[in-house]
Amino acid sequence: MTESVKIIIAIDGYSSTGKSTLAKKLANKLGYVYVDTGAMYRVIALYAMENNLIDGEIIDEASLVESLEEMDIKFIFNSNLGFSEIYMNGRNVENEIRRIDVSNKVSKVAAISAVRKKMVVEQHRMGQNKGIVMDGRDIGTVVFPKAELKIFMTASADIRAGRRFDEMIAKGDNITFDSVLENVNTRDHLDTTRKDSPLIKANDAIEINSDNLNVQETFDLVYKKAKERIKRFA
Ligand code: C5P
Repeated sequence: MTESVKIIIAIDGYSSTGKSTLAKKLANKLGYVYVDTGAMYRVIALYAMENNLIDGEIIDEASLVESLEEMDIKFIFNSNLGFSEIYMNGRNVENEIRRIDVSNKVSKVAAISAVRKKMVVEQHRMGQNKGIVMDGRDIGTVVFPKAELKIFMTASADIRAGRRFDEMIAKGDNITFDSVLENVNTRDHLDTTRKDSPLIKANDAIEINSDNLNVQETFDLVYKKAKERIKRFA
């Protein structure tokens, strides 16, 4: 696709609704940059875990926020994979951040306002030239409220947990369906009820329920919308 006008595409929604698969595919097709904002929060959760800043449910918020100053979070494009991987202080942590123990902590870390503030500054910087597909929970509401295209993804918890479970098993993780389902439900609850930037559908977002849509069908639908918007803003 050669259109010179570049737009911002915000993809928000519940955990494991296929946001990142959709966003990656869309960015590749449009020649846009893909940014997985969930990965950024996951890196901070991993950092907190590795540095003993989380003890059960208790987070040492003051120390974690102080550490943000020395935390270098970068996306580096991997041309073999066709997408960017995330690095924490020079270390590729793309796989580690997907572990279930990180998933179980990330929403608590993401609820800390100072953490969000810092990540949103980075996200603005990455989107300043447009031509970006960013997925997360607050992209269409807080990060880019003027994004030209906003998608809000939903699907039933059972279906989402099933998809995530299959993915993790395929990667060789030792996991039960019930623990994945519990994680999905807990994160939904924390993400929708937190005070700062809760997960909520933007008024002008297009809602897509992927219960009965496969990856290609979801992509086709959103790609069509993206082309319409690019034309409209040209
Ligand atoms: O997208 P992913 O499931 O990897 O996100 C992990 C967690 O990061 C979410 O459950 C949510 O708590 C947090 N998150 C967020 N805001 C975003 C992206 C992710 O709070 N924009």
